[in-house]
Amino acid sequence: MPIIRIALNVPVDTLFDYYAEDASTDDIGLRACVPFGKKHLTGIIIAVVAESEVPPAKLRAVKSIFREIKPLSQELLLLFNFCSHYYHYPLGKVIMNGLPLKLRNNQSLQLKDNQTDNQYSLTSAGKQITVKDIPARQRIARRLLVEFHCSTVISHRQIQQISPRAIPLLKDWLTWEWVAAIPKISTSIAPNLGPPLTTEQAHAVVEITNDDGHFKTWLLHGITGSGKTEVYLRIIASVLAKNKQSLVLIPEINLTPQLEAVFRERFSAIPLVSLHSGLNDTERLMNWLQAQSGEAKIILGTRLAVFTPLPNLGLIIVDEEHDTSFKQHEGLRYSARDLAIFRAKQINIPIILGSATPSLESYHNALTHRYHSIRLTSRAIENARLPTIEYIDTRTDKRREGLSSALIDAISQCLAEKHQSLIFINRRGYAPVLLCRSCGWSAACHRCSSRLVVHLRDKKLCCHHCGHDEHFPRACPDCGNQDLAPFGLGTQRVEETLAAHFPSARIARVDRDSTRRKHAWKDILQAIHTHQVDILVGTQILSKGHDFTNLSLVGILNADTSLFSTDYRASERLFAQLMQVAGRAGRAEIPGHVMIQTEFPEHQLYRALQRQDYDSLAHALLAERKAARFPPFVHQALLRAESHAMHDVMDFLQQASRLVAHTNTIEMFDPVPAQIARLKGMERAQVLVQSNSRNQLQKFLARWYTEINRLSVHKIRWTLDVDPVEF
Ligand code: ADP
Ligand code: ZN
Ligand code: ZN
Repeated sequence: MPIIRIALNVPVDTLFDYYAEDASTDDIGLRACVPFGKKHLTGIIIAVVAESEVPPAKLRAVKSIFREIKPLSQELLLLFNFCSHYYHYPLGKVIMNGLPLKLRNNQSLQLKDNQTDNQYSLTSAGKQITVKDIPARQRIARRLLVEFHCSTVISHRQIQQISPRAIPLLKDWLTWEWVAAIPKISTSIAPNLGPPLTTEQAHAVVEITNDDGHFKTWLLHGITGSGKTEVYLRIIASVLAKNKQSLVLIPEINLTPQLEAVFRERFSAIPLVSLHSGLNDTERLMNWLQAQSGEAKIILGTRLAVFTPLPNLGLIIVDEEHDTSFKQHEGLRYSARDLAIFRAKQINIPIILGSATPSLESYHNALTHRYHSIRLTSRAIENARLPTIEYIDTRTDKRREGLSSALIDAISQCLAEKHQSLIFINRRGYAPVLLCRSCGWSAACHRCSSRLVVHLRDKKLCCHHCGHDEHFPRACPDCGNQDLAPFGLGTQRVEETLAAHFPSARIARVDRDSTRRKHAWKDILQAIHTHQVDILVGTQILSKGHDFTNLSLVGILNADTSLFSTDYRASERLFAQLMQVAGRAGRAEIPGHVMIQTEFPEHQLYRALQRQDYDSLAHALLAERKAARFPPFVHQALLRAESHAMHDVMDFLQQASRLVAHTNTIEMFDPVPAQIARLKGMERAQVLVQSNSRNQLQKFLARWYTEINRLSVHKIRWTLDVDPVEF
């Protein structure tokens, strides 16, 4: 009897074998439900074999194989396999991480009505089948085949009319590839016209579309407002003309509605789906199915979308490629950007990475000609100029409630001119805390090594790491002092200060709290675009890719906190973020002005920013990284571990460090506590390994991973983080 080898969503890096009477190698990639201990689990069939290492007496039988759709193509299986090997993570968990929730449960899929209009025809294999090949007692199968031979195309509804029992046959025939769905023919495939391209845009489009369509990584390095989106749209149009699919990855779910609208307007006749965590399970499944069937031609999604089955993919775009949200920060710590490049290479198609401030890795790859760089150096809209950048030296212009008088004056002028202003608060590692000024006590989370953040509005203290919240204490728990006051600057506090200064101004706060509600962000965007907002106050969210045409002033507070960070990527990120925020100003006819409050106006980063000179800063940072042996000049991995007691974690890491004798190509550092040493009640520490050679590092990690798995560890959770971006 055939045996299926199946990948399950369990934290063990192995496949599981089951008898399956009717299985054949055609079933690879299908879902199957199997008994596992006392439960049933659903996984994906990875192989069908004749023999197993498990003794026959112990081998159990599959409960059911779900044949209604095949979630995994050969191509996707390769991608998942690569992902599992590269990130040293169990294949079953990698696959399940990439599938919509509705495909992970033990139920067969009830395909909804919107599939019923599909049309089908016989494949060349199907045409070989004659009625005589089908046993006479299978009356319905015979009738269906006759119908197919008579009329070349049959719709789902017609098949249903033959007999409801013909539908399961259709599904079988689809899996056996006797029949295939015909892509719906849209009336007009031609996109609506965009604006005439600028010379630089035209050059970019020509260079990429005139290439042979084979694998190549393009770095579209264009300043903010240079019209990268328009370049994407034109290239996608040329991919559509070949009837191929385009996958567009974007960092933030917040960017989807805006970008989706632009795409839908341009390609109004073309099936487009989005895939992101803001969709409910059914929506996500439906969109995924449309992508999987080849019907959706444009797929717009966040990092998870890199795992979408796309039978006819012709192009991948990674917008804002420098953004760290492309890296998953828990569980399977994959980089969607890097996997996208692997995927493009695997099926030999072009990939475009776009950014105004490329990651130093990508920039370095462009310098060394591994990527092909295309630059856009001027803004797309005529007369739109880059904003002027001014520094306010807060050593001389003292701040009141965080705002300097120069900035307040600028905001009043902006209000008088009926333009919008944006006040950006850099909150990385900095937020208002509750402080006792008589003894120095500050409110901390009892589960994490972090301070609680003051949320004035609901009079609450919240932990931004674990979500714990509590009420304000009435007095200092250490000394009894009743005069506790927030210290530091938060969005709410700045919002209140501004409201006091400008009582008639309409102020909108944009941060993680104010955008939590489902349509909150859409509403705020709407208000901004219909000029119902005068002053925007916000954090990171505001810095990304938005296009606010009436915005003329950007004020930046607290940027200095990232200048002297221990994280070697902090400068790169600060620069990218400030360039992005500054880029929000003066995008259309209105000239933009940026004011940055700082105590270090002479800092090289600020100097480079003022000249909008990414290259000189990037070169300086790369030189620093080379000297200090940081990526991209070395390749890194972290062994992360956590447990309830720090000494257990350290013991485990010590033990792990000694497991594999490492050669001189691998550098291994001592175990150290993580930057956030306590999180959700768990103590965390890590070991860093690095190498000049990615290959050597991978070989080492593979051996190390096997050995660590053999350690008998209790109460320790550990994981490897390959190419870590935070420490
Ligand atoms: P980027 O993503 O490079 O920061 P966008 O794609 O958001 O820039 O484009 C900035 C603005 O320029 C948008 O309002 C866009 O509609 C406009 N734009 C882009 N290309 C052109 C063009 N060729 N002619 C006129 N306007 C353009
Ligand atoms: Zn906490
Ligand atoms: Zn006190």
